[in-house]
Amino acid sequence: MKPSTDLLPLRGSSSILVGILLAAAGLGCSGPDSEGPGGSESGWVSPKLVLMGTTDVHGQLLPWDYEADGEAEHGLSRLLPIVDSIRSVNAGPTLLVDSGDLLQGNPLAAAFTPLGPDEEHPVITAMNLMGYDAAALGNHEFNFGIEHLDRSIAAADFPFLSANVVDAETGEAAYPEYVILERELEGRPLRIGVTAVLPPGVAVWDRDHVEGRLDFPDIVHALRGVVPRMRGEGADVVVVAAHNAFEGTSYDTVSTGLGAENRMADVARMVHGIDVVFLGHSHREVADSTLNGTLFLQAGPRAASLAVATLDLAFTETEGWRVEAARGELIRPDPGRSDERMEAALADAHARAVSQMTRVIATSPEAWSAAETRVRPTPLMELIHEVQREVTGADLSAAASFSLSAGLPRGNITVAHIARLYPYDNNLLRAVRITGAELKEYLEHSARYFNPCPEAQCDPLVNPAWPGFNFDMVSGVDYTLDPTRPIGERVTRLEREGRPVADTDEFTLALNNYRQGGGGAFPGVTQAEVVYEGNESVRELLIRAIEARGTLDPADFEATNWEIHPPELVDQALREGGGR
Ligand SMILES: [Zn+2]
Repeated sequence: MKPSTDLLPLRGSSSILVGILLAAAGLGCSGPDSEGPGGSESGWVSPKLVLMGTTDVHGQLLPWDYEADGEAEHGLSRLLPIVDSIRSVNAGPTLLVDSGDLLQGNPLAAAFTPLGPDEEHPVITAMNLMGYDAAALGNHEFNFGIEHLDRSIAAADFPFLSANVVDAETGEAAYPEYVILERELEGRPLRIGVTAVLPPGVAVWDRDHVEGRLDFPDIVHALRGVVPRMRGEGADVVVVAAHNAFEGTSYDTVSTGLGAENRMADVARMVHGIDVVFLGHSHREVADSTLNGTLFLQAGPRAASLAVATLDLAFTETEGWRVEAARGELIRPDPGRSDERMEAALADAHARAVSQMTRVIATSPEAWSAAETRVRPTPLMELIHEVQREVTGADLSAAASFSLSAGLPRGNITVAHIARLYPYDNNLLRAVRITGAELKEYLEHSARYFNPCPEAQCDPLVNPAWPGFNFDMVSGVDYTLDPTRPIGERVTRLEREGRPVADTDEFTLALNNYRQGGGGAFPGVTQAEVVYEGNESVRELLIRAIEARGTLDPADFEATNWEIHPPELVDQALREGGGR
């Protein structure tokens, strides 16, 4: 369909359009460079709608690494110049959306949790400056409770959307399900419908905050309801800001009764009428992927890139607007450019985060390394266990090693070191009562971090599908894990104070609320009697305990309570464990 007029200042395909813009701005660009349909070959260019997306920003507003106390490559302030350029070069309408996970994930966000009475959350300050048109709620938005979320987003100049968050009592949408934005193209109205979804796993991951208050219906079901409604209300183009990946689920859908975590591949097959999906949640990048006529793209996490979709639209009196072609690409920020207005607006927030993170809480005569934390007992893990047991009074403690590159230095230990060691600032400490049989099952489940490895020959030994944060180690008992044996039979020794643990023994076990609530689908803990339930984050408790000690010596935290057998597998596990 040939449009009657040509309003674009630049001829050629969208990639060329963005290419020219980026060349002018001195910016890098990745993505396809081919001429699409409607290109200059036929002598006319159809009008363009340019949609931009970010996702999983996780508080990365400024190009600063608060844990390393140094400059970082990325930040929203580095994407704003690109967004501004696209807005000024494109004669057609533009739109900017975010696919969720904004309010949690770095010390800048943490410095505003909880939000003070008269404070504006710096994430919202930055997003207002960016001029977002809509944003999706991500799962991490619920980490600090519904009140913190609602108070934070109240200051936004744009709506936060979700088609699959409903009031548990009424079943009504708890947040706007979609918005229809009125724009103009070639002198005609163009209505762009934007909706959003998130993983139903919020019900498990943040059970403490949402149970009995919010429900999270299945993603395909939600979009099947919402997309036709948006079309019915006149949406010419439908965009989904999906805090979601194509497929995969990290929780048990049967026992939880929840829809799968990631469903966008199913959405492509089963939901009609979606033009563009801005993916999120997986922290991967997708430049341009078309499935069943829907364009999928995903910006890099922590403002690493901007996803740009360019749509050729054609208008006919009978059909109205139709998308003739859609292309996606990712644009990376120029490290030399950062929006000064945003930097100024965030200066106070930035200073607060820097001073919190650089505070010295103790000193150590030796360096502590996390490199071997998943292959043998280490002082670092023992420190976490000791604090968890002290605070809860529990017999045993379970914890995972979140980062093999973390560690404590010789000399001054700062809050930043503890933040790197324990990155999940939303994890709360808890303790439950379990039996000996349940403890054994718990350790067997954790041992799935290793593939079954008969004859000690396997490639790989570390199961790539099992994240390291779901490999819990337990302190307070002595045990051996033998990966050469079949799944379910790999805990070959389990003792407490020199005596084998009997199935009927009873213990109290300290762990975090993510695990106790069902994160990682560990058996025996979600239904267990809770014997300790504080409202303090494990990270805060660690900081307090370390500060009280003043001096922290790894020699005081030596442990030998568990081992991998046969020992030749230790080196392989060490090599393969990588940074996961
Ligand atoms: Zn995320």
